[in-house]
Amino acid sequence: AEMFGQLTTGLESAWNKLRGTDVLTKENIAEPMRDIRRALLEADVSLPVVRSFIESVTEKAAGTDVIRGVKPEQQLVKVVNDELVQLMGGEVSDLVFAKTGPTVILLAGLQGVGKTTVCAKLAYYLKKMGKSCMLIAADVYRPAAIDQLTILGKQVGVPVYSEGTEVKPSQIAKNGLKEAKSKKTDVIIVDTAGRLQVDKAMMSELKEVKRAVNPTEVLLVVDAMTGQEAASLVSTFNVEIGITGAILTKLDGDSRGGAALSIKEVSGKPIKFVGRGERMEDLEPFYPDRMAQRILG
Ligand code: GDP
Repeated sequence: AEMFGQLTTGLESAWNKLRGTDVLTKENIAEPMRDIRRALLEADVSLPVVRSFIESVTEKAAGTDVIRGVKPEQQLVKVVNDELVQLMGGEVSDLVFAKTGPTVILLAGLQGVGKTTVCAKLAYYLKKMGKSCMLIAADVYRPAAIDQLTILGKQVGVPVYSEGTEVKPSQIAKNGLKEAKSKKTDVIIVDTAGRLQVDKAMMSELKEVKRAVNPTEVLLVVDAMTGQEAASLVSTFNVEIGITGAILTKLDGDSRGGAALSIKEVSGKPIKFVGRGERMEDLEPFYPDRMAQRILG
């Protein structure tokens, strides 16, 4: 499936309305802007984000000087492209590594979003960068989660630290960190328990794990298929536990784009990685400019 296909098509109808015009004016961009607004809303971008996006595109487009040889529709495409890039955070937001000792990456997320898969994918990615990694199984509610992490760890050739389901997640994380320190491991990735919904128990457990290992990165894994809901989840987790960014999964599905476009603006936190498939190599840094180009088709 074409990612963001519907959004791309929706935007095309906006450019088409400018065909045959000579300049961009407040009047002649009104109708294309309505198309853009509709396309963004249909892509499940959150309403306040759509509003401010439309406002700033309108302002910039109507104030654009006539450039010889550049058609009005191309000028509008350029303005929309630049605003999309800004909306998604502008620059790529790199992982931060600890100056000394292991870098601790804490992963959080609701059940089924792809968190366990991301643990292994991230380890695989870091391994290719030349970093040694260890995965820590701190999801003690589902024994299957520990098994799954162990299998994925084997698959990518990264050790998995686990202590079964009887030890507290914060303790497991702490012990795992100690082990990583003694082995001079560069990065540990802590897998935590997800729930079907946000609840108090999950938040306080995450806070406890966070206190125990003082992570360099706290990344919330969210599912692109949930659209603008993903953005409000990032906000909620940031307010509750304090996070450093998000990882957006399942971009290979027929996600409409709302999550990718809303997360930074709604939560103030960047998307650091995107997952676009079930294979271990299907994780890549989030590049706002490439994403904007994909959206524009
Ligand atoms: P968790 O409950 O959050 O740990 O989720 P899992 O890691 O077990 O993933 C749930 C399902 O989503 C699994 O079947 C994964 O293979 C699948 N999955 C994870 N990430 C992606 C992705 O980026 N794209 C696709 N298509 N499937 C994914």
